[in-house]
Amino acid sequence: LRSNTISEIANALRKGDDFLLATHVHPDGDGIGAEIALALGLKQLKKKVTIINSDPIPSNYCFLPLEGLFKDRVPRHAFFSCAVALECSEPERLGKMKDAFSGIETIINIDHHPGNSWFGDYNYVRTEACAVGEQIYDILNALKVRIDPGMAACIYTSILTDTGSFSYSNTTWRTHEIVEELIKLGVSPTDIYQEVYESNSPGKIQLLGQILSTLAFSTDKRVAWVTLTRKMFKDTHTSYEDAEGMINYARSIKTVDIAISFTELTSGKVKVSFRSKSQEQDVNKIAGMFNGGGHTRASGCVVDDTLENTRKKVLEKVLQYMKKTDK
Ligand code: AMP
Ligand code: MN
Repeated sequence: LRSNTISEIANALRKGDDFLLATHVHPDGDGIGAEIALALGLKQLKKKVTIINSDPIPSNYCFLPLEGLFKDRVPRHAFFSCAVALECSEPERLGKMKDAFSGIETIINIDHHPGNSWFGDYNYVRTEACAVGEQIYDILNALKVRIDPGMAACIYTSILTDTGSFSYSNTTWRTHEIVEELIKLGVSPTDIYQEVYESNSPGKIQLLGQILSTLAFSTDKRVAWVTLTRKMFKDTHTSYEDAEGMINYARSIKTVDIAISFTELTSGKVKVSFRSKSQEQDVNKIAGMFNGGGHTRASGCVVDDTLENTRKKVLEKVLQYMKKTDK
């Protein structure tokens, strides 16, 4: 198996007429920025494009130029000749959109996760890309699309959010090279930062307060975890999306190598997120033990059990894993 070349991907996109685009469940800044930028690029090439995600767009990304691109669900009798999955390591990550994809003739898989399952007819998987937005930037250039300020804002948002505001190890000279271009195209880093990170509701910051009060540690303080219950969301009038990034407070502690968050979902299952500080602690492997995945330093899984049981099971595996990697 090999990743298709960028010109093979560009050719496949040129061939399609009616596109369906989707990103993963609980979409984040990268998936959303990437899909809107690609949709606008395809529209410039006079293609029909519809974006349908399994879950709604968090309000802090609604400033992006998304008008007229999105549908809530697949319309009856809809026809798509080509479907593009963005930032999905496997079809399951499409959530409710998985079935819609399976009936479409050509599937293009664009992603940067190391564990990608190559489920597309075309696969453009580049683990060295800091964000799928970076891959879309390259694809738009390969398609000779003129990147307008709206597309530039989308790609910038992808990169900003997936690099933790240019702080994670995926941040490279190439990241900054692309950002240079995007700023020249009219992106305002201040405006986008404010939209994405300073548009919080009062409840979100109250939620943060509640989350921080659950902070707990392993005896050696190398593992820290926080717990988010459904009651906290209810009390603060917030939802799952509002918890994005809060795990980073646990990771920011000097002694901490692995940070974990346990979030009670409305389905009753528990979403577990992992963040690690170094290559040595590969949390992708830990999430993999629970049918999840992700990157070396950021991964997640969903466990069908109570909060308490999940916490016990997961922490046991994490501590075991750390003991092993210490040797
Ligand atoms: P999150 O903790 O949801 O911010 O996700 C961190 C990383 O792990 C992202 O790169 C996701 O793509 C990946 N990830 C999260 N949840 C899952 C899951 N249930 N299965 C596979 N990968 C996941
Ligand atoms: Mn990403």
